[in-house]
Amino acid sequence: MYLEIKQLGVQYGKAGDHVHPAVAAVDLGLAAGEIGVLIGPSGCGKTTLLRAIAGLERVSSGSITIASRVVSDLRAHVPPEERRIGMVFQDYALFPHLDVAKNIGFGLRHLDAAQRKARVVEVLELVGLVGQQHRYPHELSGGQQQRVALARALAPQPTLLLLDEPFSNLDVELRERLSHEVRSILKAEGTTALFVTHDQLEAFAMGDVIGVMHQGQLHQWADAYTLYHRPATRFVADFIGHSVFATAKIENHIENGTLHKHVVTALGELHDISPNVLARLPIGECDVLLRADDIVHDDASSVQAQITRKAFRGSEFLYTLQLKTGEIVLAHVPSHHDHQLGEWIGIRPVVDHVVTFPKLI
Ligand code: ADP
Ligand code: MG
Repeated sequence: MYLEIKQLGVQYGKAGDHVHPAVAAVDLGLAAGEIGVLIGPSGCGKTTLLRAIAGLERVSSGSITIASRVVSDLRAHVPPEERRIGMVFQDYALFPHLDVAKNIGFGLRHLDAAQRKARVVEVLELVGLVGQQHRYPHELSGGQQQRVALARALAPQPTLLLLDEPFSNLDVELRERLSHEVRSILKAEGTTALFVTHDQLEAFAMGDVIGVMHQGQLHQWADAYTLYHRPATRFVADFIGHSVFATAKIENHIENGTLHKHVVTALGELHDISPNVLARLPIGECDVLLRADDIVHDDASSVQAQITRKAFRGSEFLYTLQLKTGEIVLAHVPSHHDHQLGEWIGIRPVVDHVVTFPKLI
């Protein structure tokens, strides 16, 4: 692993203050050239973790290793300027009195003028800003300014690039385009990067590996598919995608002399569960994760639910539905099915990947 974090803890305030650590027991690794994304609610410790990697915070336990060199542990603390880490923040932090070329060249003072100029042109090409060398930050759009910030961070060829919610000041459409663009730029440069966001779509668009954080802990560090289909904890299941937990009864029945396991919810029985998943489900009550994608609108279904909220999402609606039992489920429904609030519609569960958790007591 190129970046390796082991049992990392970061605590603000003095040791023994009994404050809740901002980062606790985090383990993660990134191979060279890989892009990792940290996602989680505000205050969960994402920025603190990046600052510790950059050397801007000391660690209270564990270690950070970059390219086989321990840069932080209880004994060692390599100063930030010796780590050669590039950073891009939410506020573009460009120098307002310097033009684009000088902003980008800022970290290249160790090069001679010709080399510096060549590298500036190279990264301008990379971020698609050729011809803008002599413009000043205030003459650029937010998206262009953020591209300059990225170019400036990439220019000195950092060992690792850290990006802390770099697009959160931009509008949604631009944010989505930039996240794809930045991913290809980083891949073209072969840069190893750790990107922080609170936006799931951005995380899925950017990351080779995605980590979900909550209250200082990293709940899961995995690819998007695994996070979505095999969430490690209830928090991850709840945080990723649109879903609810519904009560499920898992029962054994003897049918024609053989034992069959059934998973029954307020939506009826869940079918099509693969035999090995079924085999692992414990008999009794549990909570089953029902994603909006698992609920299909079907006029022929005997299960009826009332629309209590609807949100237009382009090709589909996200409907919030209430069953007769009072249970709430979510459903993605193609947007040509435009039903009114209060209307009752037929629904049917189609759950391929069954995810269950013990009931909360
Ligand atoms: P995120 O970036 O995920 O929003 P942060 O890393 O900024 O989270 O914060 C994690 C926790 O550490 C929060 O409880 C926050 O209040 C606390 N915290 C952050 N910075 C400081 C600081 N400089 N001093 C004390 N506590 C801090
Ligand atoms: Mg933050």
